[in-house]
Amino acid sequence: MSQTNCCQDIPFTQDQQSKKVYCKKHFTERIEKRVRKTINKYTMLNREDHIGLGYSGGKDSTVLLNILVKLKKQFSQCNLTALTIDEGIKGYREECLELTKKITKKYQIPHVIISFKKIYGATLDQIVEESLSKKHALSACSICGILRRRALNYAARQINATKIATAHNLDDEAQSILLNLLRGDSNKFIRFSRFPIQKFQTLIPRIRPFVRITEPEIVLYAYVKDLEYHSYPCPYAFSAMRNTIRTFLSEMEEKHPSTLRNIVNLHDSISRYFPQMGNLEPPFLCQKCGEVSAHEICPICQLLDNLGFQNPLKSEELLNPHPQPDISDRSRSF
Ligand code: SF4
Ligand SMILES: [Zn+2]
Ligand SMILES: [Zn+2]
Repeated sequence: MSQTNCCQDIPFTQDQQSKKVYCKKHFTERIEKRVRKTINKYTMLNREDHIGLGYSGGKDSTVLLNILVKLKKQFSQCNLTALTIDEGIKGYREECLELTKKITKKYQIPHVIISFKKIYGATLDQIVEESLSKKHALSACSICGILRRRALNYAARQINATKIATAHNLDDEAQSILLNLLRGDSNKFIRFSRFPIQKFQTLIPRIRPFVRITEPEIVLYAYVKDLEYHSYPCPYAFSAMRNTIRTFLSEMEEKHPSTLRNIVNLHDSISRYFPQMGNLEPPFLCQKCGEVSAHEICPICQLLDNLGFQNPLKSEELLNPHPQPDISDRSRSF
């Protein structure tokens, strides 16, 4: 890297796709611009949205917090609240929680912490331990995934959020598409959309503004901006099938740059032929917790029942529900 393609400044990084070389300043500007383009392309946000950002204190959500704070300055009507889920992972989550409190205070962003212990009556550690002892087939990450999803939705409802933003990046997106394909899960493959869709009144639509940003780009951005984040991996992180796919796709991307983009682009192209899924009537409201479910008893209540834990709190026991804002007539882009 002898010379930049952007200005006379010192070369910092090379774009793997275009092979162009950028300085630090123009690299970060390009990332921010791509995030904004992604938000507009998939109409992820409107100016009046209240964004509930899933903020764990890890590098991805820290960078997303940093960029959303920046974008918010230009769109003052938009609200932003950080939502942190405390799964109850001993020796790991405690430190993250302290960091999330410190950073949200620094940015003066409202911050809500909600724990598995409060909603489900048990920590993830306790649930995983019981699951292992009963030789349950689900991995720690699969259990954590469904419980976190529900917890994040509870937290978002608590603050009247109109969108939940998560920091899933291009690597995660390509992995999820391939994972659904390899599992033969056509329902999930079709439902996996980058457009925020309000399927049911009680499920807050989700957005992933980093779906066009790669993991290495996020690491570089955090480095340039000198962002403080929690970098220790979760002790359960190596148990998932996703890891096999992550390794495979990383090798493919290394040898054939654009593999990740090609997967997401292909999914975008064929998504046009998928049926629209907006505003469906809920098939069931779970008899135990009252949440929307494809079955009379939702998978979370089934799981907790099987493992001998109490039913999750009903949302009204945890929250003070407010009427959902009508988002149907909001068309302005972020
Ligand atoms: S790595 Fe798995 S168990 Fe750990 S926080 Fe992530 S999803 Fe949960
Ligand atoms: Zn430059
Ligand atoms: Zn239930």
